[in-house]
Amino acid sequence: MTDCIFCKIVAGEIPSTEVMSSERTLAFRDIKPALPSHILVIPREHIQSADTLTPQHAATLAEMFDTAQKVARQEGLSERGYRLVFNVGDDAQNSVPHLHMHVVGGRPMEWPPG
Ligand code: AMP
Repeated sequence: MTDCIFCKIVAGEIPSTEVMSSERTLAFRDIKPALPSHILVIPREHIQSADTLTPQHAATLAEMFDTAQKVARQEGLSERGYRLVFNVGDDAQNSVPHLHMHVVGGRPMEWPPG
C-alpha cells in the first residue's frame, strides 16, 4: 500500500523508534504514548484491520503475539501486567488502517475503557 503510513515505516521511508523486529513483524514506539510503555506491533504485510483477518493470516498473527510477549518482557511489563489492544473502526477510534496491536502498560489501568 503506497499511501499507508505503517507500510512506509516498514519500508524505512518514515522514521520510527524500533523496539523489535522479526520476519513477519515490526514493533516500534507509539508517537503519542498513552501510557508509560506504549508500543505498536504490526505485520510487515499490509492487513487492513482485525476485522479483515482470515485463517490465512494465522502465522502472521501468531508471530505478532510472540513479538508482543517479548516486547512486554523487554519493557519489564510481564510481572505487573499489560494490555494488548486492537482498535477496529470509528467507535474504537481506529485511526491507522494497517493492523496494529497496542502493547500498553507501566501503571495500573482502568476497566472497562471509556
Ligand atoms: P489506532 O487509533 O488504534 O488506529 O492507533 C494508531 C496509533 O498509531 C496511535 O496511537 C498513534 O499515536 C500511532 N501513530 C500514528 N502515526 C505514528 C507514527 N508515525 N509513529 C508511531 N506511532 C504512530
